[in-house]
Amino acid sequence: MTFQSITKYVGKNVTREQEYKNILNIFSYRRQHMSKGEEQFIKDYMSDFEPIKDNKGMIIAFKYDNHNPTAINNILWTSHIDTVHHSEPNKIFQEVYMDDMTKTAFVTEKCDCLGADDGAGVWLMLEMIKNNVEGTYMFFRGEEQGCIGSSAMAKEYEEYLKNFTHAIAFDRKGKTDVITYQRGECCSEEFGKAMADVLGMGYEPSDLGVYTDTAEFLHLIPECSNLSVGYQSQHTSTETQDLAFLIQLRDKLISVDWANTELPIVREPKHEDHWGWSANDMYGDNYYVDVERYAYMDKKDLIALVKSKTPEELAEMLQDCGHAICDVIYGV
Ligand SMILES: [Zn+2]
Repeated sequence: MTFQSITKYVGKNVTREQEYKNILNIFSYRRQHMSKGEEQFIKDYMSDFEPIKDNKGMIIAFKYDNHNPTAINNILWTSHIDTVHHSEPNKIFQEVYMDDMTKTAFVTEKCDCLGADDGAGVWLMLEMIKNNVEGTYMFFRGEEQGCIGSSAMAKEYEEYLKNFTHAIAFDRKGKTDVITYQRGECCSEEFGKAMADVLGMGYEPSDLGVYTDTAEFLHLIPECSNLSVGYQSQHTSTETQDLAFLIQLRDKLISVDWANTELPIVREPKHEDHWGWSANDMYGDNYYVDVERYAYMDKKDLIALVKSKTPEELAEMLQDCGHAICDVIYGV
């Protein structure tokens, strides 16, 4: 891809006001998996990237390779295109707003969500690409439907994924988390600390992660994590995004020399207790997120998800749903 073609949507030497507009423009697409809004977004934002297909010919991700073989790290940066909508499947756009005082993006209560989860991650990666930041970039499809894109990637591109030393998602609420645990230990303490130090800005390791794309790569890539990008109350009409924080994070990410920054590679790639019961499931919000996903999932997608899982995994998923419902009923 030429630099010129990237700048058509992220701009070059843009003003701060224009940057806010660029971010809000991404949020204005209603990007439910397989919807018209997602289709339009892909047409407008992903056309210059390489589509990656599964063995049935379905596009599961869009890739941009900016890895320099002389770099000491081989980092995979990830985000996901889709959002969670459960109304008006044919509506492509929504109105999005910004509070001028606080630089906070929001939607009205009539909307399903703002879509900063994970439009914020998508914008960060577009900016990193524009600024020639080292690494390989994957924009996944269907994360909210059970990591459809990344799980297919893990199954069908196993050898390719084994080349990476680190897989970092930009898909976490809040402003401080370097996720070290998502359905199992996903990165070493050493890496969590080192990444938090590199970022500064109040980041620190957190073991309260929920399931996202990089959790699919635990058996293939040593250090997998997920970083806070400044959204809150995702999947709801009260979702917000701190735009000033997002821009600050972008500035940090493009200022680091990722090719030459020593990042620990300590964890042994292996299958973790992926679907199992854990202290975090009990006290965190992991299974609530999953139950919400299944509830609003298109039937076809749900069938595809069921087919992709083993009976053991399905049993665990049912159990998680049961636990979540019991918690609501009994107020645990
Ligand atoms: Zn997300």
